[in-house]
Amino acid sequence: MITAHKIVLDPNPAQENYFARACGTARFAYNWALAEWNRQYKAGERPSEAALRRQLNSLKDDAFPWMREVTKNAPQQAIKNLGTAFKNYFADLKKPKRQRRFRHPQFKKKGKHDSFRADNGADKDHPNAVEVDDKRVKLPVIGWVKMRESLRFVGKIKSAVVSRTADRWFVSLTVAIEHTPPNRENQAVVGVDLGIKALATLSDDTPPVENPKALRGNLKKRLSRSLSRKLKGSANRRKAKSKLARLHARIANIRNDVMHKLTTDLVTRFAVIGVEDLNVRGMMANGRLARAVADVGMFEFGRQLAYKAAMTGARVVTADRWFASSKTCSACGHVHTGLTLSDREWSCVECGVIHDRDRNAAINLMNFAASSAVTACEEEGADVSPRTAVKPASVKQEPEREAFAYV
Ligand SMILES: [Zn+2]
Repeated sequence: MITAHKIVLDPNPAQENYFARACGTARFAYNWALAEWNRQYKAGERPSEAALRRQLNSLKDDAFPWMREVTKNAPQQAIKNLGTAFKNYFADLKKPKRQRRFRHPQFKKKGKHDSFRADNGADKDHPNAVEVDDKRVKLPVIGWVKMRESLRFVGKIKSAVVSRTADRWFVSLTVAIEHTPPNRENQAVVGVDLGIKALATLSDDTPPVENPKALRGNLKKRLSRSLSRKLKGSANRRKAKSKLARLHARIANIRNDVMHKLTTDLVTRFAVIGVEDLNVRGMMANGRLARAVADVGMFEFGRQLAYKAAMTGARVVTADRWFASSKTCSACGHVHTGLTLSDREWSCVECGVIHDRDRNAAINLMNFAASSAVTACEEEGADVSPRTAVKPASVKQEPEREAFAYV
């Protein structure tokens, strides 16, 4: 399975300078290849990324000798990316207009999605061009660069994409991981209620996971306001803009980190994990919830949980959209139909138990998961297809495309 981890880099000035040059080379190669592609196409030829790579290779020593100062992966990968962009674009053309997502490849501008890629195994002389040693990564030509955290996965490193967002450098490492056998003593079951106030509430006694959204407070509002007051095109506006962009990147980073810690914790501690159907589209239809849901990143939670569960052998049981996890009393089963979104606590009219809304929902999901898992096992034994309610986690592995996403 191929997975990726994006980590903040702490380059020294010389390394930063190299990154900028490598990004520039990648951008140049991309734009050169795009112009050449357009020209060949107009001339009635059939351009291809492989031919364009060979073409650039044969002329770069004479025409662009400065290209040799950076890893040769940078221009090569840029042209491969152009090939992918065209492939996506052409595939999209076959679809109805409304479903199209890719436009014709455009020339890249400096400072927008700056990135370059280095591969392992692309160069026979340097089979291990990219290496990781705790909190540092080795990149071709430039050598060891400090990382803010260590790589989350163990496995063979396939490639590194170095990118810049809001004046910060990142490396996205693509790793091929072996399946790890489950390392749990018991067959623990947990239910997870995802929410807006708390990001996640577990059915056990662990405290709810705070929603990192709260961290930003009013800072963003203040920065946006200060930005709108600045004169267009002024240096102050540019400064305010980069400050806001940095804050956005920081929030995204914190959220990503919290999400990864949560999903890793779940798949390592529990054998069966009960969750609600994370049909984001369904939830998005409810206008008021939409922003909050998007903020919390439920889709990202589902994606991470699915691929990590596949790695550890944990089972994700999804309760369908109509499962009343919040309204059902986890003590007696009574359904409290009058429950509203704002009721954080409620007491059951049947048995009198006072419930914390989120914890009660999590316990219901745990019970559902436990019974579904048992049923599924029995049915598997009896060679009957599992009940429809027990949907195995769709194993959507983090595709290699992940690495391209930053290019
Ligand atoms: Zn009750």
